[in-house]
Amino acid sequence: MTSPVVDPIVSSGFSRRSFFRFAAGASALATMPILTEAHLALAQRPHFADPNKGIHIDANENPLGPSEAARKAIVDIIPIGGRYRFDMQDDLASTFARIEGLDPESVLPFAGSSDPLHYTVLTFTDKSKPLVIADPGYEAPIWAAAVTGAPVIKVPLADPKGAATHDIKAMLAASSTPGVIYICNPNNPTGTTTSRADIEYAVANAPKGAILLIDEAYIHLSDATPSLDFVKEGRDVIVLRTFSKLYGMAGIRMGLAIAKPELLKKYRAFGENALPITAMAAAKASLLDKELVPMRKKIIGDVRTETLAWLKGNGYSFTPSVSNCFMLETGRPGKEIMAALAAKEIYIGRIWPAWPTQVRITVGTPNEMLAFRNAFKEVMATNTSGLVPPRLPGKVAERPFTHMS
Ligand code: PLP
Repeated sequence: MTSPVVDPIVSSGFSRRSFFRFAAGASALATMPILTEAHLALAQRPHFADPNKGIHIDANENPLGPSEAARKAIVDIIPIGGRYRFDMQDDLASTFARIEGLDPESVLPFAGSSDPLHYTVLTFTDKSKPLVIADPGYEAPIWAAAVTGAPVIKVPLADPKGAATHDIKAMLAASSTPGVIYICNPNNPTGTTTSRADIEYAVANAPKGAILLIDEAYIHLSDATPSLDFVKEGRDVIVLRTFSKLYGMAGIRMGLAIAKPELLKKYRAFGENALPITAMAAAKASLLDKELVPMRKKIIGDVRTETLAWLKGNGYSFTPSVSNCFMLETGRPGKEIMAALAAKEIYIGRIWPAWPTQVRITVGTPNEMLAFRNAFKEVMATNTSGLVPPRLPGKVAERPFTHMS
């Protein structure tokens, strides 16, 4: 029997409900070891924001929501909502496996990809097996590493003013005994990709015993080559996919861990729960809709291209994103710009300690981006110093990390 899994939020005396009602300010995170994009985005908001008001381009969500086919699948499955349907988990895994040419035993569904992301770090890192991660990069694994006591080695992105890609050689050289080397492709927050050649190099040269955790949350938005073939080859690679981004199902919750069965079995220590049948039905319908990926990739890509062209035309610099988010250089403390835009009910994304003058922008609808552009222009024309509320400075940045230089 596995030991009961203790909810890290509740056990720390923190209620999820009160977090979402009142959280603004990184101190809200101090008692929460396991965090996701949603928590991190909310915690950096200068003030509490009603999710039904204003423009929310701070958590890399997809304003398009689930596809038509996914919505219909949700409605159609509701009458059997009184049943546990483990068979639907197998069906979803088999559907994905068939489409991708994988062994169905290599595919494990979860309610989003955050769970397997955290479980991977909890399973494969410890005090002598560090987590190696790009900087700026998606921080969720860092919080899981804090639970295992694993050292976190943050490796700056290579060519930060250009391609802003993972510095794979430096990441491999960072530790002789890494537990997990995390590669986010495309990267959150920069929206930039790491080349296939670099990922091949990582797979071929990672120290023995290390797990390469390749997070493909945003892969559908880009032309990056997926890494599923390394799983087929039986490598020590775990690929994560989510339905939260291009598929617009962040609130519905579905994700997949793809790895050889002996690696997936390790997750059993965390228990296995029934998954929402609405999410499984919607995910399957999304996978079977052949038009969906190219259609949404184009819709989001067009808005991104238009936004970046406007920014360039107005003299701003940003990361060359191929995803639904990018880092924007403001030339002043990014927190000031966040606060000034929040005062106009435009909520933009986070700041990474390594790049304090940049802010992350999520690509929203054309109207949302128009409102953002107008407000951003106004804010940049004013003096924003002194606008940062006192609760913003982050405990997030205060965790003990090892930095490479
Ligand atoms: N990985 C990355 C890089 C993300 O940005 C996110 C969410 O923003 C996730 C994983 C997890 O998403 P979810 O748990 O909604 O599937």
